[in-house]
Amino acid sequence: MTTPQILAAAIASSNLNFQIPPIGIKLSRENYSLWKTNVISALECFELESFILDPKPPSAVIRTEPVAPSTAAATEAPNPEFITWKKKDRFVLLWLKSTLTEKCLASVARSTSAQQAWQTLERTFQAQTRANRMAMKHRLQTLTKGSSSMLLLLDGGLYRLFPPTNKSSSVTALSGVRTSMTGWHNRLAHPHEAVLRRLISTFHLPISSHSLSSVCESCQLGKSRRLPFVSTHMPCNKPFDLIYSDVWGPSPTLSINGNRYFVMFVDDHTKFIWIYFLSAKSQVLQTFINFRQMIKTQFNSDIKQLQTDWGGEYRPVSTYLHSCGINHRISCPSTSEQNGVVVGVRNTLQL
Ligand SMILES: [Zn+2]
Repeated sequence: MTTPQILAAAIASSNLNFQIPPIGIKLSRENYSLWKTNVISALECFELESFILDPKPPSAVIRTEPVAPSTAAATEAPNPEFITWKKKDRFVLLWLKSTLTEKCLASVARSTSAQQAWQTLERTFQAQTRANRMAMKHRLQTLTKGSSSMLLLLDGGLYRLFPPTNKSSSVTALSGVRTSMTGWHNRLAHPHEAVLRRLISTFHLPISSHSLSSVCESCQLGKSRRLPFVSTHMPCNKPFDLIYSDVWGPSPTLSINGNRYFVMFVDDHTKFIWIYFLSAKSQVLQTFINFRQMIKTQFNSDIKQLQTDWGGEYRPVSTYLHSCGINHRISCPSTSEQNGVVVGVRNTLQL
């Protein structure tokens, strides 16, 4: 069983009617402090932090003293409160394990209580954090600014920024670099030159030069489009000589009848459209067989050619077409322009 499954089973068996939400991070070598804070906060929401910080289990048995004159011995019975406490402890332990990476899990494999696991992790990672801090301190000692080491410039672990000592003016400019026209063009999401010049004059933007480099590579790449396709289409003379087909879906919303897709057939000669709704793409073949039969019965005619993109749903159809002597015309991959008739219809239907 995976950890979430074990957790679900533990919740079900312990009558705990809540679930501690995941904390979003898993403990690794680098994030012990952050992990620790998140774990404690999550447990505090459910008043379970005592299980790791300061567990107070109730006594395991209830001792019943006999009434004074009786000679019977005292009796002991298991304490139901202890059993509940133990279940909660196991639950916290399991949840704690779900916040660990596989590497860290090994170190707490033998822990039998939440606190034991917590302390094991603390020993392992606190030492590591201390070692990292020592290494950083050493590195800072060897770094210098002016004549003093960086460590002396630290104030409570933070590097202090001293405010400017010149008090003659209340406003202090930290940067006064002028930018070129090309720089502003890049910063302002590549606008047209006329727009850029208007922006600069309206907002008095500081510029170093008024000339714009003639060709911006990003603009050329970003604004270029494919060349249009030349129309080479010659319509068929008779209905059903050529049928276009395409599948649309899956739809984000299920229809009342439980359908997610539709397949359409468009006759090239008449531009008549037939739409069939499907619950799965695998129904395309049977739908086409039914459609062909309908054409035969109603119009006393047969389909000569079927044009589709090479979508996975048309692979079984292709075998069927071959066995019936119908030509299967396929448009080039990712070139919906070649299936223009049906794509146009599809876009209209989607709206
Ligand atoms: Zn540009």
